[in-house]
Amino acid sequence: MVNTLSAAQAVSQALLKLPSDQDTSGRTLGAEEIALVTEAIRSGTLTSTKGTFVKALEQKFADLLGVKYAYACTSGSAAVHTAIAAIDPEPGDEIITTSITDMGALTPILYQGAIPRFADVDPCTWNVTAETIAKCITERTKAIIVTHLFGNPCNMTEIMALANSRNIPVIEDTAQAFLARHGDQYVGAIGAIGCFSLQQGKHITTGEGGIVATNDDALARRLFLYINKAFGYGDPKPDHYFIALNYRMNELTGAVALAQLGKLEGVVERRWIAAVKLTEKLQDIPGIETPHIDSNNVHVYWKYCLRVDGSVIKDGAVGLAKKLKEEKGIFSAPRYIQKPAFQCEIFEKQRTFGNSRFPFTLAQPEAVDYSPALFPGTFEGLEKVLVLPWNEAYTDEHIDYIADAIKGAIAQLQA
Ligand SMILES: *Cc1c(COP(=O)(O)O)cnc(C)c1O
Repeated sequence: MVNTLSAAQAVSQALLKLPSDQDTSGRTLGAEEIALVTEAIRSGTLTSTKGTFVKALEQKFADLLGVKYAYACTSGSAAVHTAIAAIDPEPGDEIITTSITDMGALTPILYQGAIPRFADVDPCTWNVTAETIAKCITERTKAIIVTHLFGNPCNMTEIMALANSRNIPVIEDTAQAFLARHGDQYVGAIGAIGCFSLQQGKHITTGEGGIVATNDDALARRLFLYINKAFGYGDPKPDHYFIALNYRMNELTGAVALAQLGKLEGVVERRWIAAVKLTEKLQDIPGIETPHIDSNNVHVYWKYCLRVDGSVIKDGAVGLAKKLKEEKGIFSAPRYIQKPAFQCEIFEKQRTFGNSRFPFTLAQPEAVDYSPALFPGTFEGLEKVLVLPWNEAYTDEHIDYIADAIKGAIAQLQA
């Protein structure tokens, strides 16, 4: 009896369940969201064109970020699409982007008839840099999209200096980086347009949802119109001015987003504190590197990523992930998106509209040259990255558990 109990205790100690962003254990959804959704339903007005919740969300988000305009939409992908449509590329124009990002940041480029031109990344931060972007700038460059990957800001000082010198607008994909800072500015408020996602796994969530933000009056007008079928609400003689979709957020989502927004600063702070503690515990372990963060940046830890050296640790990130899962039930993601975005079929086979291959038919050969030799940082970065799930609900016990699991696994994996 005593033996059975201690065995059961050993098992429950061996496998601690970490809070997850896929369910209530790792989300901040609660009484505030329920109260506002109830209010929205009782109002009988579920469209944002007539309601108050989405408008309140937009105002509050703009104030928090410190920008003039914010508009809610249906997803992070819709936010990026709206941003590109606001910039309004000519068919065949090039938009510089990153080889490691969510597909929702890439397909909108093709939908607007532009050619994604992939910049390489810094293998230590997995972010694009002014140097990798500069190599991609041509006469045809219409915009640059940067992704602040995993919540760690790109070097916006250098990127904005480059972009401004060439008069190229920068779109910041801030889906993973709510309230991350570069210097004294929030990312998403530095470039021409910031794009945010409220998908289930982001810092705050409505299941699906997005927001675009800008300080520019003319871009703000086009962002608003694009979300609203380009209908000039409020104009003396409103019309549908150009091709655009209905990307409006509804009031139910707006109500949840408004409640979530009130919790964002706390979420970001708790994630940061937990990450700093893990980093302290993982110092000086041969074969792994904790996050590389520029002294000018505040990382907001959408995920906590390690760089794993396969010449020190057997089977590298893949080997470490396998051990973490088998021995401690910790699910991590070696290789993140597995392969560079440009190796997905959409780019390799140019699958777009019917059999047309448009807009790739307009591309310069260099823009669609995906030779691995052009992307050393991308391949090294993906080979070494181990993405650990991260959450604002992690306690000291969870952090100890993760740190011990990593140390234990590495001790067994000396190559
Ligand atoms: C999540 C995400 C998107 C897409 O957002 P959705 O809301 O899922 O459409 C775009 N870019 C990045 C970097 C993301 O993490």
